[in-house]
Amino acid sequence: MTTIEIRTHTALHVLKGAAVKVLGARWTAGVHVKGNHGRLTLQYHRKPTPEEVTQIEELANSKIREDAPVEVTDMDRTEAEELWGDAIYDLFAIPSAITRLSILHIPDWNVNACNKQHTSTTAQIGRLTLTKTRHRATKKLLEISYDIQ
Ligand SMILES: [Zn+2]
Repeated sequence: MTTIEIRTHTALHVLKGAAVKVLGARWTAGVHVKGNHGRLTLQYHRKPTPEEVTQIEELANSKIREDAPVEVTDMDRTEAEELWGDAIYDLFAIPSAITRLSILHIPDWNVNACNKQHTSTTAQIGRLTLTKTRHRATKKLLEISYDIQ
């Protein structure tokens, strides 16, 4: 990953935390990062209101400004599951043969098994702007696109 993509990727975790708080959307169905563009796809049953979209963006940016630590711990899968339960997982499964996980943790915000590279604090991400949301009703999927400046 390039430096900008490390920032764009880390933003996914901050954005997810904000989406959980505003929408209660628990499951990530997909992620996409290219340069400073990112897209988070969540399992969600309806289209969010414009107010909710604004709230998600503001909440994510306040977490970025806070410069919260982005902690990454390599740990035994069983231990990670005992500590966090299925909160570490997304809809796309990690093969059962994998017995050690890299756990990303932004305290009180997001915990996720993720083996990608991250910034060490949230302020390094830069500013996040939501560019588009698209709800796919039949698949119950909500795509949230954003740019990083
Ligand atoms: Zn990650």
